[in-house]
Amino acid sequence: MDIRFYGVRGSIAVSGSRIGGNTACVEVTSQGHRLILDAGTGIRALGEVMMREGPPHKVAMFFSHLHWDHVQGFPFFTPAYLPTTELTMYGPGANGAQALQSELAAQMQPPHFPVPLSIMRSRMDFLSALHGKTVEVGPFKVTPIDVPHPQGCLAYRVEADGHSFIYATDVELCREDLTPEVARLFEGADVLCLDAQYTPEEYDGRKGIPKKGWGHSTMMDAADVAKTVGARRLCLFHHDPAHTDETLEDMAEQARTLFPVCEPAREGQRLILGRAA
Ligand SMILES: [Zn+2]
Ligand SMILES: [Zn+2]
Repeated sequence: MDIRFYGVRGSIAVSGSRIGGNTACVEVTSQGHRLILDAGTGIRALGEVMMREGPPHKVAMFFSHLHWDHVQGFPFFTPAYLPTTELTMYGPGANGAQALQSELAAQMQPPHFPVPLSIMRSRMDFLSALHGKTVEVGPFKVTPIDVPHPQGCLAYRVEADGHSFIYATDVELCREDLTPEVARLFEGADVLCLDAQYTPEEYDGRKGIPKKGWGHSTMMDAADVAKTVGARRLCLFHHDPAHTDETLEDMAEQARTLFPVCEPAREGQRLILGRAA
């Protein structure tokens, strides 16, 4: 399993960051199969990579939720305009298929965008990603679980080649709030990619407006959770747009006091798990 971060920022894209300015998008590949998790602004660069590879493309796309930092890159995903591309798109929740389709169409409607979703020539099949229901795609087993976030969000466990990757963006979590279901989803992950948007001071309002209830975790809670579930490696994710590279490195250093194998997820970073690489 080969994991590549194309977007690691949360909320809104920023420029001038070495660690990464684009919003959420992660690619996972194995044995010639490709998954894309979320379509934040990072998906534009992934589209360019795919265009260089050349058609045809067959991709399964899983959306954590439909907040704009997770969908806004889609109109700039060039392979979606090609008739040689097949996209199987999983929207979150019982109504996920319709919700995703209407959200992707809405953000391309006037006055937001010059051309409509219907101009995209790729084949798009919309399906719903359901809490607790594993989907198989080639060598992958993908399991979504509901996690606490305003209007809801899905965390995904992706398994292939005997390895596991957890994509848990946009979740407000601490060890005390870990439900058995979420703990089981995260358990023993080779890589746990977890929301760590805030510092504890930002979260509880010692610095700035309190962020409790906004749907995001602190890096210390992320580290504590990683330790509790026996993860092997923690990638702090959904970096706050206000955080400089220096702040992000400093947050990771503090998190390492609780969980040593921890770093900020970095745009362009590639993690290779097991032999399929
Ligand atoms: Zn987000
Ligand atoms: Zn969100």
